Amino acid sequence: MELPRAENSAARLRYVAEAVSTNDSLAALAADPDEPTLSVFLTLSQTAGRGRLGRSWIAPPGKTLAVSVLIRPLLPSGEPVGIENLGWLPLLAGTAMTRAIDALVGHARTTLKWPNDVLIDGRKVCGILAELLPSGNGVIIGAGVNLTLGEDDLPVPTATSLALAGVAGAGTGAAGAELVDAVLGGYLEFLAELLGRFLAGGADARGSGILSEVARVCSTLGQDVRVELPGGTTLTGVAKALDASGRLEVLSGANGEIQAVAAGDVTHLRYE
Ligand code: ATP
Repeated sequence: MELPRAENSAARLRYVAEAVSTNDSLAALAADPDEPTLSVFLTLSQTAGRGRLGRSWIAPPGKTLAVSVLIRPLLPSGEPVGIENLGWLPLLAGTAMTRAIDALVGHARTTLKWPNDVLIDGRKVCGILAELLPSGNGVIIGAGVNLTLGEDDLPVPTATSLALAGVAGAGTGAAGAELVDAVLGGYLEFLAELLGRFLAGGADARGSGILSEVARVCSTLGQDVRVELPGGTTLTGVAKALDASGRLEVLSGANGEIQAVAAGDVTHLRYE
């Protein structure tokens, strides 16, 4: 598959006709410390993609993009980014994907649902799953994008696709290389740019301007939300802001206090 724009932004790019999970394939390659940051692994036929908390990502063959990117988050000093700031990586990826898709769909219909979903008109077009390598020296960011699914292909009624959003060149057959390169090339370009700024700024999301870049595309902010926490507790309130670690600050309707929730602590985030 010819993907000139994506090739240009990736340190290394591997395309396979089919994969079980691109995150697993890239994690295996990343056990080699020479596998570079911004190494990319993709397929249009992923047979057992994962969502968060063991949920599955459903992808009819040939119609969705599954792409994983290796990030070795090192500061200019060579020090690794602290664990408290790693939560920004999936948010950077989500912001990059939101921008890439918005460039195709237009009219600011594409937004980021904190922490890991990209929505078009409120329906999910892309899910993102970040996984820390067992060695700790890298993070794999996987993204599944619904490219050419028609109404009958949608795995859940809350999903959508680029074809259904009316993107030119996205019919409901197998996805072509040009469409893949437009999405993937845009994603990798924005991701490299945001990541570069974040790392150059010492992983200080506020100081580097990354926090406001994420907040600008994040439709969760200002919404009434219901957050299901592990153990069955529910927090309802208004999503107010992102804190310095990328956690969502919710103004609780019950006690008027701000409670920060981390992605890993959220079972489900629903809009009221
Ligand atoms: P949810 O989407 O249920 O609010 P979540 O954002 O945490 O939760 P993930 O766990 O990241 O979602 O992704 C898995 C969920 O995404 C599945 O439970 C299913 O509802 C939904 N899903 C699975 N495949 C697709 C797809 N191709 N397009 C859109 N949504 C999908």
